[in-house]
Amino acid sequence: MRETLICNAMIFDGSGAKPFPGHLRLRGNRIAQVMKGSDAVAQEADEVIDAGGAFLMPGLIEGHGHISFIDQADLMDLAVIGVEEHTLATMHNALKLLDAGFTSVNSAASAKVRLDAVIRDEIEAGRIPGPRLRAASPEITVTSGLGDANKMHVKLHTFGMVVDGEDEVVSAVRLCIREGVDNIKLNISGDVFMPNADSFSTVMAENEVRVAVETAHAHGKRVAAHCRAADSIKRAVRNRVDMIYHCDHADEEALDMLEAAKDWVLTGPAIGVIIKSIEALQSADDPALQPQIDELKKLYDDNCWTHAEMRKRNIPIVIGGDYGFAVNPQGTNANDLVYFVEHYGFSPAETLHAATMIGARAMNRPDELGQIREGFLADLLLIDGDPLDDIAILTDPAHFKAIMKDGKFHQQRRDGAINTDQENSGRGWLAAQQ
Ligand SMILES: [Zn+2]
Repeated sequence: MRETLICNAMIFDGSGAKPFPGHLRLRGNRIAQVMKGSDAVAQEADEVIDAGGAFLMPGLIEGHGHISFIDQADLMDLAVIGVEEHTLATMHNALKLLDAGFTSVNSAASAKVRLDAVIRDEIEAGRIPGPRLRAASPEITVTSGLGDANKMHVKLHTFGMVVDGEDEVVSAVRLCIREGVDNIKLNISGDVFMPNADSFSTVMAENEVRVAVETAHAHGKRVAAHCRAADSIKRAVRNRVDMIYHCDHADEEALDMLEAAKDWVLTGPAIGVIIKSIEALQSADDPALQPQIDELKKLYDDNCWTHAEMRKRNIPIVIGGDYGFAVNPQGTNANDLVYFVEHYGFSPAETLHAATMIGARAMNRPDELGQIREGFLADLLLIDGDPLDDIAILTDPAHFKAIMKDGKFHQQRRDGAINTDQENSGRGWLAAQQ
C-alpha cells in the first residue's frame, strides 16, 4: 500500500491538547503512525513531505452545512432556480468548502430532497471533488412555520417540506430516507422575521417531533432541528433529537437539559449569518430597517450568552452553520472559527477542537474522523503559520500549504484566494433567468 511520510510538523491532534513536534506516516488513506519528537526519521516512503515545522491539523468539519444554498439574497431565489442549475450550483459549492479546508460537511438541510444525496454520491464515487458529506432532507416544517413559503394561490418551494400531523410527518421522513438522506431536519421553532412563527415560538408539536425522531431512528438516520426558542430546545432534547441547532433563547432549564444530554447531543450556533446580516442592514443606513436590526441584535445577544454558558458547561458545540446567503457566501465558513474566539470566549485550541474532534461526532464517525491518531482517516491541513496564535489565518486559504482528504492531496482551485465565486453558486444562473 502506498506510504506517505509527513515529517517535521507541529501536530495539533484535534483533542485540544498542546501541539507537539512530530512526523506522520500514512498508509493508503489512513494514519498508520504518529511519531512524537523532533528526532530525524528514516525517509522511507513512496512520498516524503518535509513540513518544515508547519502546523498540521485534522481537516475542518462544517457541522451545519447547507451546500445547496446558492448565496441567495432572498429565499425566493431558491424557489426560482431550476433543478438542473441547482444541482450544478450545489456541486460547485461542495468544491468551495473543500478549497476552504473543510474535508467534511454535516448537512443540516438540503433545499431539495435529492440534492445533497446525489452530490454526496458523486463525491464518494470520486467523480467530483468535495468534502465528505452527510446528506440532509429539506427542512420539514409545519404550515406557517419557517420554510413554508406557500400562499393560498401559489405553491412556492424554497427549502421546506410542509407537513402537519403525525401521518404527514412520518410520510415525509420516510420519503426522504427512501431518497437517500442521512439526516432528517425538523424546524421546531420559528425564526426572526416570520410573521406567524417568531424565534420565540415553538410551532412543531410534541407528537410531530416524537414520530419524526422515532421514524428516523428506526431507519438508522439522525435528526437535526432548528430550535431558537427555549421550549423548542426542551422539546428536542426530550425526544432525542441528535443535533439541536441555534439554541439562542435557551433558559437555565434548557441548558440543564442539554448538559444532562451532553454525551449524545450536539449543538451548533450558526452565528455567522446573524453577524453579517446585522452588518449589512446597518451599512444600508436606512431608518426603516431599524426594527430588523433590533430583532437581530436581540438574537445575537441571546446567542452569545447561550454559547458562553454552554462552553462553561462543556456542552458539545460544532462550528459552522447557515453559510450560503449573499451576506455570508459558501466558502467563508471558517469565519466561524474567529467568531467562537471573539464572541463566545473560546480559546483557539478549544475552537479547533470543536471544528475537528467534535465535528466528527456530527459526521457520526468519531472513531475515524477529526483527529490525528493512528488508524484514523487521513483528512489533514498543513498550515503556514500558527492558528493557535492567530486563528484568523484559517479564513485565508493562502495559508494552506496542503489540504488532504482521504489520503489524497486536494489541489485548491484558487491558490491564495478564497473561492466564493458567486457566479457559479447559483447567482449567475438566477441573473440569466431575469
Ligand atoms: Zn441552518
